[in-house]
Amino acid sequence: RELYGVNRWGLRYFDINEQGVVTVAPLKEEGISIPILEVAKEAREQGLHFPMLIRFHDLLRNRVARINRAFSEAIAEAEYRNQYRGVYPVKVNQLREVVEEILDAGHDYHHGLEVGSKPELHAALALHEDPDSLIVCNGYKDEDYVRVALIGRKLGKKVILVVEKVEEIRQIIAMVNKMKVEPLIGFRVRLMSGGKGKWAESGGENAKFGLSTIDIMRASRLLQEANMAHCLKLVHFHIGSQVPDILTIKKAVREGAMFYAKLSKLAHPGLEYLDVGGGLGVDYDGSRTTFHSSINYSLNEYARDVIYNIMDVCDAEEVAHPVVISESGRALVAHHSLLVVETFGNIKKAQVEEEAVAPTIEHKLIDDAWYAYQNISENNPLEAYHDAQHYKSEAQTRFELGMLDLEVKAEVERIFWLVGVEVLKFFRGAEFVPDEIVELESKYSDQYLCNFSVFQSLLDHWGFGQLFPIMPLHRLDEEPQRRGTLADITCDSDGVVSRFINLYEDGVATLPLHELNGKPYYLGIFLTGAYQDIMGDLHNLFGRVNEAHVYLDEDEENGYYIEETIPGTTMEKVLALVQYSEEDLGRKLKRQFDRAIREDRLRPNEAMRLLNEYNRNLKGYTYLRLE
Ligand code: PLP
Repeated sequence: RELYGVNRWGLRYFDINEQGVVTVAPLKEEGISIPILEVAKEAREQGLHFPMLIRFHDLLRNRVARINRAFSEAIAEAEYRNQYRGVYPVKVNQLREVVEEILDAGHDYHHGLEVGSKPELHAALALHEDPDSLIVCNGYKDEDYVRVALIGRKLGKKVILVVEKVEEIRQIIAMVNKMKVEPLIGFRVRLMSGGKGKWAESGGENAKFGLSTIDIMRASRLLQEANMAHCLKLVHFHIGSQVPDILTIKKAVREGAMFYAKLSKLAHPGLEYLDVGGGLGVDYDGSRTTFHSSINYSLNEYARDVIYNIMDVCDAEEVAHPVVISESGRALVAHHSLLVVETFGNIKKAQVEEEAVAPTIEHKLIDDAWYAYQNISENNPLEAYHDAQHYKSEAQTRFELGMLDLEVKAEVERIFWLVGVEVLKFFRGAEFVPDEIVELESKYSDQYLCNFSVFQSLLDHWGFGQLFPIMPLHRLDEEPQRRGTLADITCDSDGVVSRFINLYEDGVATLPLHELNGKPYYLGIFLTGAYQDIMGDLHNLFGRVNEAHVYLDEDEENGYYIEETIPGTTMEKVLALVQYSEEDLGRKLKRQFDRAIREDRLRPNEAMRLLNEYNRNLKGYTYLRLE
């Protein structure tokens, strides 16, 4: 538990049992706990190959309830005189099953949806049925976008059109007059209190979205001139996703609340909602710090701070408390899914045998290097390492000039690796580890080959260096003896995971792993439910992975059942996305087989068998089939 920090990032959903197997309790510790590998194996028996994404729907439901409860508790505690209405930003995970589950679990809380594009709006309008929950429409809009949102109004839905630029006001006014329907309008304000962290660019003066103070005055006047001042219902801001520091959130909320209060007093007493956007982060590394993959606050603290600061500003401005909306997506969906990958090899990079054998060749460079090795002590590990580095580079220079034999060069390098092994021992568990030793550690680590694509399943690791908790799903009753990085199966040197979570540092270069023993070795990549499975790309044409959707059921022997499996992309489907048709490929290959038969290079029987195999394969999974 300590080694992989599971109690820190797992929010008590994940644990390790006495057999050394990772378990999940989708309803936290009071509920049923399931060994994750058991689910994976059952899905495998149902025909799903690895890599496999497992979704725990009850966990998703639990997150919806927890976020809503955090706000209602904060409201009760502060004696805030209004309510909370959450909206789920569909872009964080658009999968229909995920959105439906959130709407269902959020029904009692009137949890609604946030959309940022026309396709998302079309999906939301159809799935959303609760007249008391909201659909918040963000993003740039054209006429069609505005029209479809107003169709939602005609159906009696609370669809709020959030204005991102002044021009959209004119569009809305024109469309409303045509369609004869009363719009609900929001202003997205551009705050000065920008966020910090990797996804912070949504705030600040140069933000891509939102109205400046001058824009707000213009937009307000346009509404007044059209006799629609009362249609302004909402003030919205969003300072970025995964905000690591609670102080940033407090500051932004106060600024946003001030815009709300001033606009309300200026000309829009009909204002009802203050939408604080997203930003509620996830503690991926469990460090509870402002490291970039962490956050220094809890969900309850977040809710209390949002409510208290809005109240404080509104009370001071003598404005009624608004309905509070938040657009948290990441904190809602990150935990519910994990990726299970199998390793299929281990490249050991340290080029030394376990035993240090004394050199048998006589050469001054070898003697010097060996002397450095024999004299390493706790007083001088770095010095010994520097000496060995010097002899290695000296050997390289002489070799390039033709002044050194291969045997001598190999021997100096062997001693260099031996020195490295010894030096690393002195720094294990040390409080301060110099950068060059961190680098050395990763030079010595193994590379575990894993059947998945970083570009499909872990895009934010590749693009932003975001860290995800990764650990073996079994064998955790054995001390892991090796340290490694993970290499995926794409033909791209960026297709690796080479930063891992650590409670005390902003990422470390290697992960503790077990020696492969000829049996399957499975790793879990956790907290992948937000953004990852939806933003993945088609690098090397691997495509979506197989999915298993799991529900708890006390009456089942194992306490759960697999409700649905969604097959990942087949070769035929992924090729079709880049304009190859299955028939055309088959026809082209058949022509080549026909030629081979005509030229007597293949017997017709064999040719047809091979062609059938090719055609059959096209319908198969894109990832490696390892068993
Ligand atoms: N709302 C808007 C307007 C966003 O752009 C985003 C994402 O950046 C979100 C909500 C979701 O925020 P989070 O990832 O913090 O849940």
